[in-house]
Amino acid sequence: MYSKRSFQPIRLIVLSVILVFQTLCGSMVLAEETALADPPVFRGQRAMELLIEQCEMGPRTPGSPGNRQLRDFIIKKARDAGLTVSTHCFETEMPMGLSPVELCNVVVSAGPRQSEPGTRLWLGAHYDTRPVCDLDRDPALRDQPLTGANDGASGVAVLLHLMELMAKDAPNRGVDLIFFDGEDSGTGGAPGSFCIGSQKLAGTLGDFSNPLDPVSCQGLIVLDMIGDRDLFIPMEGYSLRHAPEFTREVFSRALKLGLPAFSMSPGRAIFDDHVPFLQKGIPAVDLIDFDYPPWHTTGDIPQACSAASLQQVGKLVTNLIYRP
Ligand SMILES: [Zn+2]
Repeated sequence: MYSKRSFQPIRLIVLSVILVFQTLCGSMVLAEETALADPPVFRGQRAMELLIEQCEMGPRTPGSPGNRQLRDFIIKKARDAGLTVSTHCFETEMPMGLSPVELCNVVVSAGPRQSEPGTRLWLGAHYDTRPVCDLDRDPALRDQPLTGANDGASGVAVLLHLMELMAKDAPNRGVDLIFFDGEDSGTGGAPGSFCIGSQKLAGTLGDFSNPLDPVSCQGLIVLDMIGDRDLFIPMEGYSLRHAPEFTREVFSRALKLGLPAFSMSPGRAIFDDHVPFLQKGIPAVDLIDFDYPPWHTTGDIPQACSAASLQQVGKLVTNLIYRP
């Protein structure tokens, strides 16, 4: 039996335990609230895994088994994440004397389905890779297809990891992730032979078959060659000339976040998937590091890329999604 004296300390202990428990619970609730208030954390290492996974599928040339495998992978991943998927496919002639193929752009939508005018964010990357390594030093290797770790897989890896984040934390704003096909089969000196998928998608905006709504769009950010270990992203020329406000807004955010790869300096003009949209009056910016020695060579492999570079670009777009 307990005497009154021996009971007191026990009561104190019980009370203390309850107090400690309540305090812990309180701080747990607080921590959870803070976590929800902060944008989800984009992990460069996870994006790097997704970059390698794409390269392991082999070349993703339009019409190839690798291209098909990656498209199916994107679609499955989007459906598993509970996101909306639309495909935009069409038959087309191909440059470089290649046989006609069916190209398929894939659009994955997250957040609210309906958006006010000028509020949805479009993020794009090309998932196809170049059929040849025509700039390789070794002439014997120039007819090899590109691995495309940076030129293809890097932008797609960022979008794939964003899907994982948006599956857990649905964004308040509407977001459309656009996976372009047929970007990189063109011939030098003929810009129109590149970006076939995006030309078709931009050229049919407003049509019934097109999953994108131009009225609700705030702007398009294209991610291309953003995995370079030695990353430097200036303001691409066409973006700056035709969408100066949107371009400056995106780069100012990068500087505010302290991302060292981004520079407000003007860069060269590059015909990329953003150009057909600029021609249609959609504000669009191309985030691209064109200073990449293994470009269109057999050296465009995962070792030329880094998780730290993917992390910087991923952090920027995550912030823009969750902090419009
Ligand atoms: Zn390329």
